[in-house]
Amino acid sequence: MSVLLQKPIDYLKGVGPNRAQLLKKELGIYTLQDLLYFFPHRYIDRSQHFTPSQLPKTTAEVQVLGSITHLETVKQKRGSRLVATFSDGQNNIELVWFRGHQWIQKSLQLNKPYMAFGRLNWFGRKCSIAHPELEFFEDHKERKGNFQPIYSSTELLTKTGVSQKVTRQIMVHLFEEIGSGVQEVLPASMLQQYRLMDKNNALTTIHFPKNQEALALAQYRMKFEELFFVQLQLGLKRLHRKQHLKGIPFPEVGDYFNSFFHNHLPFSLTAAQKRVVREIRTDLKSEAQMNRLLQGDVGSGKTIVAILCMLMALDNGKQATLVAPTEILAQQHFTSIQELLKPLNVNVALLTGSVKKSARVPLLEQLADGSLQILIGTHAILEQPVTFKQLGLAIVDEQHRFGVAQRAKLWRKNVIPPNILVMTATPIPRTLAMTAYGDLEVSILDELPPGRKPITTLHRNDSKRLAIFQFMREEIAKGRQVYIVYPLIQESDVLDYKDLMDGYESIVREFPLPDYQVSIVHGKMSAEDKAFEMERFVSGKTQIMVATTVIEVGVNVPNASIMIIESAERFGLSQLHQLRGRVGRGASKSYCVLMTGNKLSLDAQTRIQTMVRSQDGFELAEVDLSLRGPGDLMGTQQSGVLPFLIANLKKDSDILKTVRYAVDEVLQNDPTLMLEKNTVLRTALALSQQGKSIWKYIG
Ligand code: ADP
Ligand code: MG
Repeated sequence: MSVLLQKPIDYLKGVGPNRAQLLKKELGIYTLQDLLYFFPHRYIDRSQHFTPSQLPKTTAEVQVLGSITHLETVKQKRGSRLVATFSDGQNNIELVWFRGHQWIQKSLQLNKPYMAFGRLNWFGRKCSIAHPELEFFEDHKERKGNFQPIYSSTELLTKTGVSQKVTRQIMVHLFEEIGSGVQEVLPASMLQQYRLMDKNNALTTIHFPKNQEALALAQYRMKFEELFFVQLQLGLKRLHRKQHLKGIPFPEVGDYFNSFFHNHLPFSLTAAQKRVVREIRTDLKSEAQMNRLLQGDVGSGKTIVAILCMLMALDNGKQATLVAPTEILAQQHFTSIQELLKPLNVNVALLTGSVKKSARVPLLEQLADGSLQILIGTHAILEQPVTFKQLGLAIVDEQHRFGVAQRAKLWRKNVIPPNILVMTATPIPRTLAMTAYGDLEVSILDELPPGRKPITTLHRNDSKRLAIFQFMREEIAKGRQVYIVYPLIQESDVLDYKDLMDGYESIVREFPLPDYQVSIVHGKMSAEDKAFEMERFVSGKTQIMVATTVIEVGVNVPNASIMIIESAERFGLSQLHQLRGRVGRGASKSYCVLMTGNKLSLDAQTRIQTMVRSQDGFELAEVDLSLRGPGDLMGTQQSGVLPFLIANLKKDSDILKTVRYAVDEVLQNDPTLMLEKNTVLRTALALSQQGKSIWKYIG
């Protein structure tokens, strides 16, 4: 970056040592460059104004035209305030100052037209503006550009006189100082092809927009740049992996796969499942390591895809592993996969934290000598002493539950990294997938197996509890089963456990032995007890399962037809969707009941209403993203991964698409960025990597 931009702000005209100190402390602005990239967070259209007679009854920030007819200091409990009567001849409002009276009083002129700007404050029919910005109407008319930037500020800055006006003035001095000396970072050919504003122009326009159109172009340019460099890094990484990371190719499709595919599939595959298997097959045939994300809504049938892929590994003499986030899920995968593969004589084993040493030792031996072909388990598999003879394929189920670090551990299970397939039912909105998972290929299961009936989702409160009990009795009489889920935000939360136990007791009272059997599963139980209770529910011995969210992911009991979620307002959207996905898996009509209190926050209302309205995982994910922001959505481990200055993953998906295209085009023609015209890219990339790198978060 240019030396000029690295200059400290202290010496900039209009700043000086005191303000410099403040800007550093309050906003983290140290250099001219920091200042340059301190973008306005919004803009006000100053082409519109009101008079005191026509004010809208809102608390918006507006411009008001009038004259000061009277000025007085009013004593209050502490100190005093300065009050100006601001009039258009018919009606008036008050302009109020609580600080800086003397200076303001001196500078104000009576009976001269001013344009006042500020937030309206209504007390009944009286209106006031506190600390307005004032400008002589004459000056206002002459000023070019009605579009005014507003910068973030802090209380201390405002108090010490660094107002919006002062900030704007500092920006003027900044541009006087730097001229148009900012380095372009995108090739000229690209500017032309994508009709991008050049960088100097864009930066100037962002701080001093002439009109809405110019501003939009400038913002587009800066967003493009920002997204471009993230995507370029990811693209380079993807290329690198393809070219240099030798994988473990599976050239053959052999007996295991063919025999299972032709003779033992329990159902015919959906078109989406077939397509995804083909996509994965293509990856696995190639020399390069596979690194693929399989996204498929709850119940879309990811497990069978996983099984088919594992058989491809076996056909090529390699081992395969499936890692699940919970013991319950691992156990369930193990049981069903073992059952399905019985006719093929495949050696499958389960490894979780609670597998006893006596069983573990021979299992690890078989794993090391290669006689154990498929290992299913929890993160226990990732631990040190677990060594495979040759692991060809690692599948991670419900990827969103794992951190990046755990994924990396899988990579290290072989000298040559195994092929990796991560599966997730939490649909990641496209924009996020393209950004955060830009180094993964993505497959999507966008079709549910046939015969699924839509789930009816209801929102109820406590007053309807008796009716719900009655409904449960009717469904149970038809042979169906019911889940009741309680929130457990933290394992250690005593109150949550109390809720759960209270709930369990009242259910047992309402549904007594010997007619009814009620199971309970929660995180404080031993793995054995959990498995025992799950098994009772799966086999239909109990009709009601009271549980915490340990059952959230993957559990498959097709006979269950009601999902009741207690305190549903405390769950996030994707979690609610996951939970609801536990029902509607069998032939019978299913229901999801969201129980909430009466008073809901606006966000909670939106979540509940969205759940009632939609069953489309992708739509829910988009709403979730807009409610929570991308950081949260990806789980706390990954929050703050992608701090964008100006791009917005919520709103800029179209730009991102173009950017992806641009990156592909560049890398196809010039994978090492050695062409003359791409020198600027190479330079900019090198510089951006000196600073904070996003690499460490990815892969
Ligand atoms: P998820 O994608 O949520 O992991 P599963 O793999 O658990 O979904 O599949 C959900 C249910 O749908 C299972 O009972 C499974 O046997 C069944 N299933 C999967 N694919 C099909 C299909 N093509 N036709 C019919 N049923 C299917
Ligand atoms: Mg699953």
